[in-house]
Amino acid sequence: MATVAGVAVDPGHWIGGERVRSAGTFTDVSPIGETPLAEIARGGAAEVDAAVAAARRAFPAWARTSRDERARLLHAVADGVEKRIEELAQVETADNGALIRSHRRGVMPRVAHNFRFFADWLLRLGHDDFETRGHTNHVSWDPAGVCALITPWNAPLMLATWKIAPALAAGNTVVLKPAEWTPLTASLLADIAAEAGLPDGVFNVVQGYGAEVGGPLTAHPDVRRISFTGSVPTARTIAAAAAPNLTPLSLELGGKSPLLVFADADLDLAVDLAVEQYDNAGQVCLAATRLLVESSIADEFTARFLEKAGRIVQGDPRDEATDIGPQIHRRHLERVDGFVQRAKADGARALIGGGPNEELGGLYYRPTLFTGAPDGAEILTEEVFGPVLTLQTFDTEDEAVAMANGTRFGLAATLATGDPERARRVTERLVAGTVWVNCFFVRDLKAPFGGSRQSGMGREGGDWSFDFYCDLKNTVTAPWAR
Ligand code: NAD
Repeated sequence: MATVAGVAVDPGHWIGGERVRSAGTFTDVSPIGETPLAEIARGGAAEVDAAVAAARRAFPAWARTSRDERARLLHAVADGVEKRIEELAQVETADNGALIRSHRRGVMPRVAHNFRFFADWLLRLGHDDFETRGHTNHVSWDPAGVCALITPWNAPLMLATWKIAPALAAGNTVVLKPAEWTPLTASLLADIAAEAGLPDGVFNVVQGYGAEVGGPLTAHPDVRRISFTGSVPTARTIAAAAAPNLTPLSLELGGKSPLLVFADADLDLAVDLAVEQYDNAGQVCLAATRLLVESSIADEFTARFLEKAGRIVQGDPRDEATDIGPQIHRRHLERVDGFVQRAKADGARALIGGGPNEELGGLYYRPTLFTGAPDGAEILTEEVFGPVLTLQTFDTEDEAVAMANGTRFGLAATLATGDPERARRVTERLVAGTVWVNCFFVRDLKAPFGGSRQSGMGREGGDWSFDFYCDLKNTVTAPWAR
């Protein structure tokens, strides 16, 4: 057992209701001080085979379990999460460096809600029968089988449970591969699921590296669904691995989302929305990293932005007063800094930031705002996934929309305007899975979530999750003889 933030965490896999070790391990390092946290089991094809086999064995009984019983068990998992919110928050903060205050008050309660929401949604899932020439058409959502769920490090348990809950609610069994930089809360979730009484093999976790575990998992012929959240290059590898089996995919990927600020906007709100994009040290897929501001207000917007951004408190994420913690890993910090240095070489000017936070040292990177990047510069088109924003100006609505839609991504878009008619016109033309008007990050689990263009494939949320995790079946019955 490893002890992290005073919490016992098993470093093994969770397969068929048992803890399993591997011959090799890898070191999980905290972004806070880059200290080692645990030696984690390093899985490979053998562990993937064992987990998929366990999930396959558990599938028929779980698929037949009544909806009421599945919902009851998912609520029991939510109860277990709620009992352990503080422990989960402490461990997640140690593991990924995100703020303890948001883990305590936002993220972990949302993890519990993921289970409750899909448990309740399952009970109302249905479609009215319809009739064709006296024949009844009955639509059913049949569980698909073993689901492979692969998740990133920026919001580990939140993003994993957003997939696990609907997959299990639908009657599937699951093999989760957490990100290798953040393996710990998945292990705690296995404990919670076992305590809640989930049958052995219904939920499995295989720890390890992307190519070594994710590779064989996504190529496995017994896997019936793959849901992946992560980067575009990994998505391409997964799509290729899934192709021989034609395994259905749900892909939630990166973005380069815009925040459009029109001259008629509430400027205080617009500045708040812009500075919020540094949350989680910029490691947020949905972040509106391109600030597109109407020219006539650009100077005032910039002045107010710099004033507010200057008050951001950067430091230890375990401190409740901290606004921004470290980057996840030294390799990631170097990647972020590579983008920043190339942006400078391309002619962009950093109004704030532009490098690591040398006072704090470690993995802290200064919130950065670039202006003057030339058209087509990498910093305007590629996802950095760090605390790095760019500022560009526009003169007309058409120009704003063209700039907003001008990347290969389409995950989200945010606009600040005081004119409802403008909001309607502009949102209609934006290419994005989610659009926020005068708000940011508010999301109901009932709504479809996903990305357009290279930000993803498919949608999850509410009915859309069940559509993905099920084989929909239409049963047509002829009239019975009287
Ligand atoms: P990543 O693609 O490097 O890794 C994600 C997961 O894929 C990890 O578990 C990794 O081990 C695994 N993986 C790596 N290679 C694999 C392979 N060959 N086969 C199967 N699995 C493999 O992404 P990351 O750096 O962990 O996360 C950051 C990215 O995730 C960013 O692009 C971000 O925008 C995106 N993201 C998207 C959303 C969304 O909902 N759209 C949410 C959060 C993060």
